[in-house]
Amino acid sequence: MVEAGLKPALRVQNLRKAYKDVVAVDGLDLEVPAGECFGLLGPNGAGKTTTIEICEGLTAADSGEVEVLGLSWRSDGAELRQRLGIQLQETQLSEKLTVHETIRLFRSFFRQGASPAEVIGLVQLEEKRNSRVGALSGGQKQRLALACALVGKPDLLFLDEPTTGLDPQARRQLWELIEEMKKAGTTIVLTTHYMDEAERLCDRVAIMDHGKIIALGTPRELVASIGIEHVVEFAAGSQAHPLEAARLHDIEGVRDIRADNGTVRMQVSELHRAVPALLDELGRQGAPLTELRTHSASLEDVFVALTGRHLRDE
Ligand code: ATP
Repeated sequence: MVEAGLKPALRVQNLRKAYKDVVAVDGLDLEVPAGECFGLLGPNGAGKTTTIEICEGLTAADSGEVEVLGLSWRSDGAELRQRLGIQLQETQLSEKLTVHETIRLFRSFFRQGASPAEVIGLVQLEEKRNSRVGALSGGQKQRLALACALVGKPDLLFLDEPTTGLDPQARRQLWELIEEMKKAGTTIVLTTHYMDEAERLCDRVAIMDHGKIIALGTPRELVASIGIEHVVEFAAGSQAHPLEAARLHDIEGVRDIRADNGTVRMQVSELHRAVPALLDELGRQGAPLTELRTHSASLEDVFVALTGRHLRDE
């Protein structure tokens, strides 16, 4: 295991990768200290998977330096493969093998690690121990893929969208498992489109867009950095009295007004002033309010503020 305070678990410098005319990674620098759970966030096509696959030794970079656990893919590939756990965005496992056989196969790739039974217990697949992979649900397959990533007791674990497609309970179980791995000192680098997941699990996150990191820090630091305190979302107006959204700009302390599918979303600094002022304005327009929600600024708001997009926009 890498000792805290020594070399970072992952160091990336000036990384570049293009696919023909698409620049997927555009001069990226990144450092993840040992023991950290680090989240790579960004919209579809931002370059997260390409970055992570270069770090995993699966994709060759065009240029730049990647140091993993103080080692390099060029000279230390065999050693690195023993010490990394990798869960890809989509894992194709042999449909004919059983859960136990699959994990035993993966265990055989590593000099040391956990017993298949231990890992099956960890991902809660005991009941499916003897089921064929082809008969598992999507979520169960995902947990099996994670088990395969864990069976070598990795020092560094890469998880590419580990909870996409899982039901809410399975997601929570997976979060608990990731938290246990963190407590055991495993460094984790994950990508996710779920902001609640990043806020809960990640010590630090980077937001990527167009192959570059555009924000980096703890979730709390990032939320503080955009200077948004609250977000008000509402729907208002009728056929006879449609909402005149342009007039909302006159309300004091309101910024960044966006209308999307009949819902208006605006950032405000003081909720207790903005909401009554909004109601007054709607009253003047005669536009009835049909929905109103408020929340404190979150990582998702940081994302919208920085990229102008929602995380799950396709
Ligand atoms: P998502 O959230 O959708 O998984 P991402 O942030 O992981 O997206 P990447 O998969 O790294 O993004 O893709 C970055 C860019 O590189 C995209 O424009 C994508 O179309 C392109 N790209 C990725 N892999 C290839 C490939 N093998 N061939 C050509 N273009 C590719």
